[in-house]
Amino acid sequence: MNKFEILGLDEQLIQAVNDMGFETPSEVQEKAIPILLDQETDLVALAQTGTGKTAAFGFPLIQKINADSRTTQALILSPTRELCLQITNEIKNYAKYTKGLNVVAIYGGASITDQAKQVKRGAQIIVATPGRMQDMINRSLVNITKIEYCVLDEADEMLNMGFYEDITSILSHTPDEKNTWLFSATMPKEVSTIAKKFMYKPIEITVGAKNSGSDTVQHEYYLVSGRDRYLALKRLADANPDIFSVVFCRTKRDTQNVAEKLIEDGYSAGALHGDLSQNQRDMVMKSFRSRQIQMLVATDVAARGIDVDDVTHVINYQLPDEVETYTHRSGRTGRAGKSGISMVIVPKSEIRKIRSIEKIIKKQFIAKKIPTNIEICEIQLYHLASKIKNTEINEEIDHYLPAINDVLSGIDREELIKKMVSVEFGRFFNYYKNAKDLNVVESKEGRRSQEPGKIPTSGDVRYFINVGERDGYDWRSLKDFLRDTMDFGRDDVFKVDVKESFSFFNTDVAHTEALLGMFKDFKLDGRFINVEISSNPSGGGGRRRNRGGDRNRRGNSGGGDRRNRSNRDRRDGKPSSDFRRKDSSKGGSFRGGKKKRY
Ligand code: ADP
Ligand code: MG
Repeated sequence: MNKFEILGLDEQLIQAVNDMGFETPSEVQEKAIPILLDQETDLVALAQTGTGKTAAFGFPLIQKINADSRTTQALILSPTRELCLQITNEIKNYAKYTKGLNVVAIYGGASITDQAKQVKRGAQIIVATPGRMQDMINRSLVNITKIEYCVLDEADEMLNMGFYEDITSILSHTPDEKNTWLFSATMPKEVSTIAKKFMYKPIEITVGAKNSGSDTVQHEYYLVSGRDRYLALKRLADANPDIFSVVFCRTKRDTQNVAEKLIEDGYSAGALHGDLSQNQRDMVMKSFRSRQIQMLVATDVAARGIDVDDVTHVINYQLPDEVETYTHRSGRTGRAGKSGISMVIVPKSEIRKIRSIEKIIKKQFIAKKIPTNIEICEIQLYHLASKIKNTEINEEIDHYLPAINDVLSGIDREELIKKMVSVEFGRFFNYYKNAKDLNVVESKEGRRSQEPGKIPTSGDVRYFINVGERDGYDWRSLKDFLRDTMDFGRDDVFKVDVKESFSFFNTDVAHTEALLGMFKDFKLDGRFINVEISSNPSGGGGRRRNRGGDRNRRGNSGGGDRRNRSNRDRRDGKPSSDFRRKDSSKGGSFRGGKKKRY
């Protein structure tokens, strides 16, 4: 049976659906169609554009309407002429095997008499824009006193466009017993007012995530080496000359440093953090509000209360410790219905945090590239040119004009423009002339979970772990640590082989997934504990090529091929920054002190 048949659609509609090539109902169709077919009810459906709303109300409408009667039985209100025509065409397509069904479109900018004639011939369904509909009612060219169904399509848009009065007036000409079906992408106050006023106990359906307002924020990340963070920040600012942004850092110190460097480099920036006096903070906020500061560099705590509209960009100079904090940060932009961009400057070692955030915010990040020097120079040039064009002329200059003319005499217009632009643009050009590309290529593994070794299908699996004697382990205590962490039984971990700075151990393959999952983002004392499937099933048996190098290496790296590779990935940015970041451990002790932040 066809999936649309299951929803209860009859023969003629199924045929049309097949002709249109629809294979499966969309979510809003799946939810709305059975309700609308089976019940005489009001309905509020929240779904974004492009989710198939037209068919969600169109199919039930066609099936319920009596095509033998010429009375107007349904009115669909839609915000624009284009949508009105689009809906009309879709419904005509859906109803192509439904004999005798007439759909008429009523919209402004076309002959009202032609439209009136079409209605007179008998239109069971009218699709209209509110303005023209009101017009036709005033001139008694339509009769909607007997309609049984009224659809308010894109209700939020209609109200945005100021059709509230028209809609209420149109509805006052319709019978009380009709069913009203309201479709909208969002549910602002005005829409719920309409729903309360004109609908009776509507069934509510929501498709996808409920509108949260943060839909206006686009999330982007820029993969750069950790040591290039600041350069990347500057380029992002240069590529957005009109930026009005909050730049988030993790610590007060970084906040202060980044702000100072920006100021030194000629940006209008300011720092906001807890080490400033209340007075200083007030001053900074005042400058920010009045746009004297374009880039406010802030800690999470200090920025908590910021309620400045029109922030164009939130820049995550560093990612926060907690995923939730990201939501608060990005919420500083995209306010009051404006759109905004939340950018993350991220080293490869933290790319998985982006994936964790995506799960929480239920939105995908766009992987973007730091603009190249040429792109930035172009943007700046255009910006400068339009700034010159839009600059109000200072009349005081008239006084000096003869002298200026003297100096500039003999230079033609084109040359003069070139020179003028060069004055301002020289700084940029010189800076970017030899600037290197900051972008880091994202590895395939970055997109997926990082599991270098292949997982066998049966038997034992040998793992590598980046702790060893140097961390105070022997085979017994490492085994205990793994058992405690994983809640393993007595004999689940075996063949434990502890080396100086790393170790190997085995488990049954049944534990592999859980084990890798647990250690995917496992941090202890501010340091990542990394477990991977060993590329060498007898790893630790003394046959590894790279062994000699281990002794000379400090820190937590060194060891076999497999691990070398992954540590390089992880530490591509600022070498071992994660390992050293003491402030992020917040008292976590080695045993039982795990912090699963992402
Ligand atoms: P909305 O009103 O929610 O913005 P539309 O009703 O205009 O969305 O549908 C968007 C597009 O998807 C249209 O071209 C429509 O023909 C098509 N469409 C609708 N339902 C389906 C379906 N079940 N399968 C495939 N395409 C569909
Ligand atoms: Mg639509």
